[in-house]
Amino acid sequence: MTTAAHRILLVDDDPDDRALAVTLLRARRPDLEISEAADGVTFAGHLARGAFDLVVTEHRLAWGDGLRLLTTVKDLHPGLPVVLFTTDPDADLASRAVRAGIDGFLAKTSRGFLELADLVGELLGPAEPAESPASPAEDVVRALSHDLQEPVQLVSRYARLLGERYRDRLGEDGERHLGHLVRSAERVQSMLDDLLEVARAGARSRQRVDLDSVVDEAVETLYGAIEETGARITRDPLPTVEADRSQMVRLFQNLIGNAIKFHGDEPPEVHVGGGGGDGRWELTVRDNGIGISEADRERIFEVFERLHTAEEIPGTGVGLAICRRIAEGHGGTLAVDSQPGGGSIFTLTLPRGETP
Ligand code: ADP
Repeated sequence: MTTAAHRILLVDDDPDDRALAVTLLRARRPDLEISEAADGVTFAGHLARGAFDLVVTEHRLAWGDGLRLLTTVKDLHPGLPVVLFTTDPDADLASRAVRAGIDGFLAKTSRGFLELADLVGELLGPAEPAESPASPAEDVVRALSHDLQEPVQLVSRYARLLGERYRDRLGEDGERHLGHLVRSAERVQSMLDDLLEVARAGARSRQRVDLDSVVDEAVETLYGAIEETGARITRDPLPTVEADRSQMVRLFQNLIGNAIKFHGDEPPEVHVGGGGGDGRWELTVRDNGIGISEADRERIFEVFERLHTAEEIPGTGVGLAICRRIAEGHGGTLAVDSQPGGGSIFTLTLPRGETP
């Protein structure tokens, strides 16, 4: 599709909420063109310029009031539907919004984020069929991980506060328990960040990507770990493929990073190989690390599955889940062959495509 069927203006000064709403709307409604306004000037500019089919606005804005915005929109464009999508959905606000001529009212909760696309559908008509719609599970992961961030941040903030204000009354045991609480909350937070990343690994753009430069970039970002462990990284000349470049960097960063992290007694030796045949590229990341037993070789690609505790070796266990999702999103596969104590070989296959 070359032109968007409907144009939406999304008004919200919280960048995370905006990003989530846009991601979820795009996943369900690829036919929408979404313009974002974080401040009053951008909002006014969009409204003056834009022929929109729908405005979605937060009520609580640092620079204004969603209801006032609603009235302004209705004064300028009486037929333009407006949805109030707000963190502050009380009954009084709802009734004032109805009086102001609101067309839709939605609370900004996980459920609200998920229902936004449905409400847009009711107001603008159903979506054009998408080529590859995101699965509902993906939407749920996005909305939940976004929504759980706030309570988890509260837990860690108050636990810290307790530690600071009541240290002298806590005693040794109390301090230890509080330490566990803070660390667990931090861990949940990074797991939520990672979950969000797994969900995002589905969406991608495609361009010609030179894997030599991708691997070089990935290796550069691992400089600290390479220095620390004395790792030696080598690579074959690699092909140019049709892919999302930043996802390829992320994939090789994870694979090479793991190859360094899970080393044995010897300094890590990591080799990235390139080859293929039968219409597929075959890229390998080989290491001389601790290896993986046969029983664990599938499990490690699951979200949050790890073979060590975070205290032994840091990590949340989503790296390989992301890598596999990226590989499959490109029409490829990712698998491992390994011997405990004898190193591992991760093999990524990618379709060759038509371009030479
Ligand atoms: P994380 O690195 O955060 O633990 P991953 O999903 O990247 O998460 O890896 C999952 C698990 O797979 C790791 O905890 C480790 O036990 C195992 N693993 C991954 N890569 C290797 C490797 N190159 N050698 C040995 N074990 C590995």
